[in-house]
Amino acid sequence: MSDLVALTSITARAGSAPQAAERAPAARKVFVHTFGCQMNEADSARMLELLGRHGFTGTAHPEDADLILLNTCAVREKAEQKLLSALGRYRVHKARRGTILAVGGCVAQQEKGRLLARVPYLDFVFGPDNIGKLPEMIERAGRERFAETGWMPSEEYLFPRADAEAARGRATAFVTAMKGCDNVCSFCIVPHTRGREISRPFAEIVEECAALADVGVREVTLIGQNVNSYAGGCDFPSLLRRVAAVPALARVRFTTSHPHDLSDALVEVFRDEPRVMPHFHLPVQSGSDAVLLRMRRDYTVAEYMGRFEKLRAARPGIAITTDFIVGFPGETDEDFERSMALLERARFDNSFSFVYSPRPHTGAIRRIGSAPEWVEVPREVAIARLERLQAAQRRISSEAMVRQVGETVEVLVEGALDGEEGRRFGRTPENRVVHLDAGPAQAPAAALLSVRVTRAHANSLSGEIPVPT
Ligand code: SAM
Ligand code: SF4
Repeated sequence: MSDLVALTSITARAGSAPQAAERAPAARKVFVHTFGCQMNEADSARMLELLGRHGFTGTAHPEDADLILLNTCAVREKAEQKLLSALGRYRVHKARRGTILAVGGCVAQQEKGRLLARVPYLDFVFGPDNIGKLPEMIERAGRERFAETGWMPSEEYLFPRADAEAARGRATAFVTAMKGCDNVCSFCIVPHTRGREISRPFAEIVEECAALADVGVREVTLIGQNVNSYAGGCDFPSLLRRVAAVPALARVRFTTSHPHDLSDALVEVFRDEPRVMPHFHLPVQSGSDAVLLRMRRDYTVAEYMGRFEKLRAARPGIAITTDFIVGFPGETDEDFERSMALLERARFDNSFSFVYSPRPHTGAIRRIGSAPEWVEVPREVAIARLERLQAAQRRISSEAMVRQVGETVEVLVEGALDGEEGRRFGRTPENRVVHLDAGPAQAPAAALLSVRVTRAHANSLSGEIPVPT
């Protein structure tokens, strides 16, 4: 999972706003600052769509906003610190023009009213299950400060529906398949902040994908904290087959998965279904069985590699990426060398790696220091390990990229690169980013192009569109 802070600047549509513009009240502006994973990005998009139906338009400039929403991540402590420094920056807008400041997402769910006490200029706090109440919470904000962090009962839970119109002109879209997590990984705060697993009925998901395809979206990514344990009237392999059968959709992806739910039926989907893209993010966390046991990950390295090999055999060329945590309590030099050995053996296409961050409400934080195998790893040792692992990954990833030079690959064009109209970017089926020296006429958004790879960089490829002879 990416730890990048994404500034969401999707413009909310006015929905059914009155046509007589001269009599309509001026729309209020909302700026959404999104931290963390794709689940949060999707939640932010739903917030903007909902507020678009209640008189707000999105803005990319916080200084112009009447409302600033911070959609937060609590997976690592650093993410929380980023939230507090962003709030400090937005405080001036509140002082200058009375901007309403609200915090949603995982930190909101974890901290509840405590966040209001820590940040006296914050107007309200809302948990992930309360997004639908935003319009009424905004009205209430003028009268009181409050935290809305209750859970909705599973049987009543309604997944916010994506507004397909808001995706018109885009090549890709996220579609929520499930929420929450029933696993008990001892390092992870997600079950506490996102609650129990709830799967969305498959008919709703397929309908949303079809509506997106109707407005020109070519690729959907099914998302959930633990998406392959999906159980919304069918299992995850059947859901993938149903979505892949939606006419006009060219590509289906999903994220993120727990290795214990990588069943043979799911491997068969990769063998049979060309529209399911050859990329699998399969977080391993550690190459040591002793550490995996303390992490409560439910698999050994041998079991993980068994599933990994099945996937590679079913879909030759598939890109497999992973997550590693280093410096988990009790991780010895030998344990860490096992993670390095696993990296060299699996030759992951890429990995996200993190120093272990102790989180409240998790199994591990209660055990740290309680026995020799739970001894804390000094921070400098953990950082040195992280640097070694990341250097090895950079070498392996760049070797995979270099092998692509000279090949012709299929690229789904997503849009302009860094806002430059003369440069475009897209992705290969394996999810590698390709930069193109081309304008929108040659490489329009949502076009599927054959591209010759000309150069490999650390995290991307350059390619050219062959001129027809
Ligand atoms: N559901 C996925 C799985 O089972 O692997 C992972 C989702 S988790 C929110 C994303 C990644 O954050 C994890 O794979 C893990 O590497 C990392 N992560 C989670 N908790 C962490 C912690 N306490 N310290 C460091 N990294 C953590
Ligand atoms: Fe966290 Fe484990 Fe659930 Fe992934 S499977 S979200 S790591 S508890």
